Amino acid sequence: MNECFDDLGKEHRADGSMWFNDLKRERQNGPSLTTNRYESCDFSTKSVHSGQYDDPLTKALGTPIYQSSTFYLSEGVYDSIHEGSARDQMIYTRYGNPSQWAVQEKISALENAESTIVFASGMSAISSAILSVLEKSSHMVTSRDLYGGTYNLLYEDLQRFGMSVSYVSPTDINEIEAAIQEDTKLLYFESLTNPLLKMVPVEDLVALGKKYKLRVVIDNTFLTPYNLRVLDYGVDLVINSGTKYLGGHSDIVAGAVSGSRKLMDGVWGQMLKNGGSLDPHACFLLERSLKTFAIRMRTHNQNAKELAVYLENHPKIKRIYYPGSPSYAQTELAAKQLNGKCSGMMSFEVVGGNKAAHYLLDNLKLTKQATSLGGVESLGSLPYNTSQASLTENQQKEIGINEGLVRLSVGIEDIEDLKKDFERVLNTL
Ligand code: PLP
Repeated sequence: MNECFDDLGKEHRADGSMWFNDLKRERQNGPSLTTNRYESCDFSTKSVHSGQYDDPLTKALGTPIYQSSTFYLSEGVYDSIHEGSARDQMIYTRYGNPSQWAVQEKISALENAESTIVFASGMSAISSAILSVLEKSSHMVTSRDLYGGTYNLLYEDLQRFGMSVSYVSPTDINEIEAAIQEDTKLLYFESLTNPLLKMVPVEDLVALGKKYKLRVVIDNTFLTPYNLRVLDYGVDLVINSGTKYLGGHSDIVAGAVSGSRKLMDGVWGQMLKNGGSLDPHACFLLERSLKTFAIRMRTHNQNAKELAVYLENHPKIKRIYYPGSPSYAQTELAAKQLNGKCSGMMSFEVVGGNKAAHYLLDNLKLTKQATSLGGVESLGSLPYNTSQASLTENQQKEIGINEGLVRLSVGIEDIEDLKKDFERVLNTL
């Protein structure tokens, strides 16, 4: 196609129409199939009802699985492409699909977001969100404590494409501010870090974003909107790995980004290029899982709280990392930001180092030894050889991944059974 530029440097296509990102258009929530987000209802009710599409033709209660890669074109669809509102049309499943729209509306309701996009993985969500806000030669500030996949993306690929990244402590707002440069565009942090559960001060981070006119993006996978809604603080985009608590059953790989419709249209444009939209069948599973999200999270939170007390007082446990524990390094911030809703994640160091940690995980019966988190079953792994395996030994030491560190995702089993299982193995250590 033959492009030309107007006086403002905006690109026009040969037929005079403008590129998608240059169009001025009315913004609306969504896209969505239904208009009812159950805004006046509470979290559990939204988990059950928001976004669900009851098919008016068949009267099926619940969203059908729209297992179709493409949709009939019409004059209205062609017009929408020219007007820049193609995101609100069904055209092709990578662009949008009713099964995606339904679960996206549910997540939007839970996040208090105007708009959400679901992705084929958390990493796909992360890469599209980050690329949508960075430009040529941009700089971003992020945490030294990051999920390994995210670290690899930033360290290997962003730098390869001419962008630069500063790594700082996520708990020190002064260090974060000091790392901001003239070409900084983005502050990117995990609300609760993987695996040491360090907390970023969200309110202070948003204030920095406003002061320096930067985008603030948070990976909220460990906490989820049940425990912390970062968009309410003014964060620009929130990311969840849907593989974890949102999916909740260790049976799908998915991701989600939520935010204002304006920014999410940019993420959508990026997603079209990266690919990585979520398959309709996985959308169905994600939407179905989210109906029990609130009750699952309540049990994860409660079980973790009780297990943390047990582990903290056990002589074979050297140290525990859990925001609800009295020994947590940021108790004041945790009380303010989480108000007792600490999620089901914790890490702890076993007396006897990595050998003892391996022995523990090899012998627990209810806590399954597997990477990933947020499932109904308790899952345990050793960060040094899983989520943080791509870091050097020195980098692991620098962020505090010590010998014997176990990451535990506490499931929704009966807490007394979980404790008994730990007691049995810890007593033979
Ligand atoms: N963010 C965090 C905090 C994670 O722990 C993970 C995976 O473990 C991801 C993102 C990536 O999610 P996914 O595996 O769905 O791509």
